[in-house]
Amino acid sequence: MATDVFVSKSLEEHVNRYFDRAASLTGHPTGLLEQIRACNSVHTFQFPIRDSDGRIEVVRAWRAEHSHHKLPTKGGIRYSAAVDESEVKALAALMTYKCAVVDVPFGGAKGAVQVDPHSCSAEHLERITRRYVHELVKKNLIGPGTDVPAPDAGTGEREMAWVVDTYMALNPGQLDAMACVTGKPVTQGGIRGRKEATGRGLVYALAEACAQAEDMEARGLSVGLDGKRVVVQGIGNVGYHAAKFCRERGAHVVAFAVPEGAILDPRGLDEDAVVEHRKRTGSVLGFPGATSIPRSADALELDCDVLIPAALENQLTGDNAPRIKARIVLEGANGPTTPEADEIFRAKGILVIPDIYANAGGVVVSYFEWLKNLSHVRFGRLERRHQAASDLRLLAAIERATGSAFTDAERAAFVQAPDELGIVNSGLEETMVTAYQEIRETLQRRPAAQDLRTAAFLNAINKVARSYLELGIFP
Ligand code: NAD
Repeated sequence: MATDVFVSKSLEEHVNRYFDRAASLTGHPTGLLEQIRACNSVHTFQFPIRDSDGRIEVVRAWRAEHSHHKLPTKGGIRYSAAVDESEVKALAALMTYKCAVVDVPFGGAKGAVQVDPHSCSAEHLERITRRYVHELVKKNLIGPGTDVPAPDAGTGEREMAWVVDTYMALNPGQLDAMACVTGKPVTQGGIRGRKEATGRGLVYALAEACAQAEDMEARGLSVGLDGKRVVVQGIGNVGYHAAKFCRERGAHVVAFAVPEGAILDPRGLDEDAVVEHRKRTGSVLGFPGATSIPRSADALELDCDVLIPAALENQLTGDNAPRIKARIVLEGANGPTTPEADEIFRAKGILVIPDIYANAGGVVVSYFEWLKNLSHVRFGRLERRHQAASDLRLLAAIERATGSAFTDAERAAFVQAPDELGIVNSGLEETMVTAYQEIRETLQRRPAAQDLRTAAFLNAINKVARSYLELGIFP
């Protein structure tokens, strides 16, 4: 792990500061705001695991459910040696606000296991995962209608497959059991497009931000993604896919920063080639044609249009924020910007697209996966052929009426046969675009909010408040 990470105060404190800033603009009663802000419950586990040499190791783990205003609660499981209870609570709170911002009907939650996934064998991780799920089941902290985990940093499809398998083993015959976790492999009840959803969602968010001529002009940027110079921190799930979709839409990913250092190539880097080189040599440094930057954090300060922190929290701080040259910060990671840095970015006119909106693509598509699992059918399966046949009948009628025929290209463009991936991506784009517009409108209506983050928090608080007020208090 790099030693160049800026560690400032806790993420929990930061999230609460962002919340308080927006809450002060709402006029909701103090008690209601306190209820929205508080983490409803945190469960701590300590369980024994036997390693491959037969030694017993005690593992610490958590599940925090921040808000039950909508059920189930939802949030990833993080595997990290450095994670602690406060971080889990902060991440659970971000999930509540994130789901509200993008109208996903879940409360916020988060889980974590204190383990370094990179230094363990797959067998050891499997034992830990299955034992963790066993603890969750015993305490009713997992289930399609109660709490639905997903991947986060350090976990992925493989771990989610172990989660669903363990849950099903402990709940035989439960019809909706597949919906107990999202982010599963497609062959295990997952949904096409989930793995890349957070990165794809980030790029939909960026495209929508870059489509606002007024906002781009104010920052000396051209409209659109084409030609934008992008620096990405992290080349894991989020960073890799964000880079891929940026490149596919005409932007140039000029630098990647990872723990061992960073690489820079103003002509643009290909993420697959970088991953391949790193796999082969053990480092991104020395990538052919690129300049190596030994101190990873220096890459954050490179001259670029868009900076995508997609690794860890607390990366942009009061310390390095004055030296950040990007005009747009697109928050791929959760909590990458401290409130001190946020203040500096505001003063510098940097457009910060906040985590509670920008990286919501993962939970949006998790919602689609959950719906798929509950309906027990793949999206598009029932209507695909029916829709295509209906389109063809309409084309034939037009041809008969006009007496002229469509070309093959026109026919192909018109006839829509929606498949699962197409449906998922269009649902994701619709969600990200609509939420961006809602946030921007709030900012225009409430200039005191001053930035997109505060406007997004305002929207989230108002939506959660409405839910609580409608529900009342029981008993
Ligand atoms: P991951 O484990 O797949 O990737 C993390 C990446 O960060 C790796 O490339 C790692 O090398 C890099 N990294 C770690 N420490 C670093 C350092 N000091 N400097 C530079 N790079 C460093 O994790 P992920 O799933 O991509 O998640 C990354 C962030 O995005 C986390 O904050 C996570 O909470 C957030 N997030 C993830 C998802 C998702 O769907 N996976 C959804 C929303 C938010």
